[in-house]
Amino acid sequence: IKIKVTEINCPVSVSSAFEGERVRKDTMFAEFGGNRTPAWELVTSVDLADIEDHKITVVGPDIDDAMFEEGKTVRLPLGVLVEVAGKDMQADFETVLERRIHYFLNYIEGAMHVGQRNSSWIRLTKEAFGKGFRLNHIGEVLYAKMRDDFDKVVDKCQVTIYTKQEDVDRLYAERAKPVYDKRDTRMAALTDDSVEEFYTCLLCQSFAPSHVCIVTPERLGLCGAVSWLDAKATKQLDPTGPNQPVVKGTAIDERLGIWESVNEAVATNSQGAVESVTLYSILEDPMTSCGCFECICGIMPEANGVVIVNREHAETTPVGMTFGELASMTGGGVQTPGFMGHGRQLLGSKKFMSAEGGLERIVWMPKALKDDVAERMNKAVKEMTGIENFADMVCDETIAVESEAVLAFLEEKGHPALAMDPIM
Ligand code: SF4
Ligand code: ZN
Repeated sequence: IKIKVTEINCPVSVSSAFEGERVRKDTMFAEFGGNRTPAWELVTSVDLADIEDHKITVVGPDIDDAMFEEGKTVRLPLGVLVEVAGKDMQADFETVLERRIHYFLNYIEGAMHVGQRNSSWIRLTKEAFGKGFRLNHIGEVLYAKMRDDFDKVVDKCQVTIYTKQEDVDRLYAERAKPVYDKRDTRMAALTDDSVEEFYTCLLCQSFAPSHVCIVTPERLGLCGAVSWLDAKATKQLDPTGPNQPVVKGTAIDERLGIWESVNEAVATNSQGAVESVTLYSILEDPMTSCGCFECICGIMPEANGVVIVNREHAETTPVGMTFGELASMTGGGVQTPGFMGHGRQLLGSKKFMSAEGGLERIVWMPKALKDDVAERMNKAVKEMTGIENFADMVCDETIAVESEAVLAFLEEKGHPALAMDPIM
């Protein structure tokens, strides 16, 4: 019999009641990630002998370090390394535990967590700091919740928090990146056609009650943190949990990606709010978006294509809206034809709005996002159309943002979208 860790060593409350809490600039004491500093999080499994249960270490300055100027927001690089061990632990479970970091940190009164992997973004309030909250408490909360929620597989858990730039960079390259890459490579070998079932994900219903993600091998959850393999592993870990299989059966429409089984699952799990979704179209019954999508895709009619913007990009886009403005009309669990939240990974998928022509429709995206996805996107486009280096044809903010200038660039490059069927 395992002992439940109910007492958490933390000076502020930790409860799902604080999940939706935002930390705004004026109440913020410290910030990590969010484009200002590098920040990543990793859950990795190790041998039982290699870690010490409940060992929490902060390597580098804490948020009360004397180096910070009084009254100014504390900003630090951050690496959160959660090592777990257990005789029933499997490498496939790591991502499931890792995604829960998002929820566990949001349970902390005075903390906000957005993103995942190396796009993690954390804010802490002045009030939490005043009550004595320090970085080791992040470790305490993660420790307690990992032991509590995953007691079936986690026998030992150790958390190390790094805040020195050199450690954060080095360990990213040595430990985090190789693990993220390995997971992506495994996932890349699977296709929607090659599996018998998709999975629902209902984790975000606490924020968006009618939202249901349908996770397939070629279309991960829009938060970017739940792949088909993750959903499958969650089902194993937590049989009655948020990820349930949807046995595909025969498609009603292969092009749009409509399955009766998927519609039934969405209708039931959204309590009837959404009755029909397509998996491969953004115009006809697109999947709903909750609030934690990594990117938003929206139609730019005059370019006969779509623009993509990632959460980190604060500036406006050629459709005249910023990420935040687009998010307010796309999120909340409603269907907004022409606009859709999605994960970064989808930008390397042959199923990305394939009903409307696929990746070739992308006419603009922020440079940082383009650089991040170029290799996979180029490969997919090459395999589908023969076009080499497609990313070079996609406009970005360093080239143009204003509609006419974007169009001029697309013409100059001979962008394929200009010659495709009208998008709407
Ligand atoms: Fe699950 Fe979708 Fe929320 Fe990701 S965005 S946690 S896949 S419901
Ligand atoms: Zn969400």
